[in-house]
Amino acid sequence: MISLAGGIPAPDLIDTEGLEAATCHAIKSAPDNIYQYGLTEGERFLREEIASHMVAQGICVEPDHILVTTGSQQALDIVARTFLDEGDSVLVEEPTYLAALQVFDMAGANTIAFQVDQHGIDFTRLESLAAKRRIKLMYLVPNFSNPTGRTLPLAERMDLVEFAIRHDILIVEDDPYGDLRYDGDHVASLFKIAEQSFNSKHRVIYISSFSKTLAPGLRLGWCIPPESYFHPLCRAKQSMDLHSSTLSQYIAGYYLKSGRLDNRLKLLKKAYKSRRDALIKAIAEHLPGTLELNVPEGGMFLWGRFSNGLDASLVLKQALSHNVMFVPGKYFYSGTPDLSSIRLSFSTITPSLADEAVKRLAIAIQKTEQLQAQE
Ligand code: PMP
Repeated sequence: MISLAGGIPAPDLIDTEGLEAATCHAIKSAPDNIYQYGLTEGERFLREEIASHMVAQGICVEPDHILVTTGSQQALDIVARTFLDEGDSVLVEEPTYLAALQVFDMAGANTIAFQVDQHGIDFTRLESLAAKRRIKLMYLVPNFSNPTGRTLPLAERMDLVEFAIRHDILIVEDDPYGDLRYDGDHVASLFKIAEQSFNSKHRVIYISSFSKTLAPGLRLGWCIPPESYFHPLCRAKQSMDLHSSTLSQYIAGYYLKSGRLDNRLKLLKKAYKSRRDALIKAIAEHLPGTLELNVPEGGMFLWGRFSNGLDASLVLKQALSHNVMFVPGKYFYSGTPDLSSIRLSFSTITPSLADEAVKRLAIAIQKTEQLQAQE
């Protein structure tokens, strides 16, 4: 089976050697700490390292203002538990990250979707949505979004922050892919824009993760909330798991301190860029005119739609019997889905595998078309 489905880091690109060294270091240097209960907000040592790492994203933050979480998924959950009541409205891009939709749903919130197409965000529609109801949160994945791979341009980020301030909406900026940019220039985070351009320190909760750059099995993410929200979020986390794994935090902390992350990021970016390009090239070769593709500047996902309107779920059925899989795009919609959309993850598809993956996909598409013609 060739999988274009999972949004996972490539197993061959995880720095197992560096993580092993960091693990040994943690076990030898901090035995009194790593096996013990820890602080809910996270180990100071790791929070200092994260603060230094954030400087590269243009975010200057005190370690005390960083809340370590059990993956960024937990950060989304504690935000939802803290701020959302049954029936509250949350604005989300359409399509958006499936597990965020699940979190908002579990919190009893209503997700209100706004379309983002090739022309960008329709702000007239956004205004009319906000005019009809009180919106509490706006959830955004501004860099190389899951699933669409899209990056919000600076002008849209500025307009979104201004819109959020005007309607008193709290922005949740989910940024697990921000370190994985392959082309183009860094775009300032919503967190930074709110602070620097609008002098607003209470508008954005920034969330990120070590899952895509280090190892998802560590289950470590972090959250930078406005200062006044730190303690409520910390209390919500405490009720969930007391604290994130102390051992994992020391491993990540020593790994960052070793200075290996910069080189690892260079290697990841080079490898993922070539995987992305190989998949795009294979699609152009074997599926000309079949898929309208979004080409992302980073991250892990290509987003496409069948130009002839083919139902992606029917294609998936055929694809599975030809040992290739992907995710139909419909799962990422909170409103009416585009049934012919698909998400293709390139992170685990080496350039030598891309041709075979797309050839199998092409057969599956052909079979689906034949079956449809017979009906
Ligand atoms: N947000 C987005 C947009 C994601 O794609 C993911 C992982 N698929 C997460 C959050 C959660 O990641 P983790 O909990 O591993 O940090």
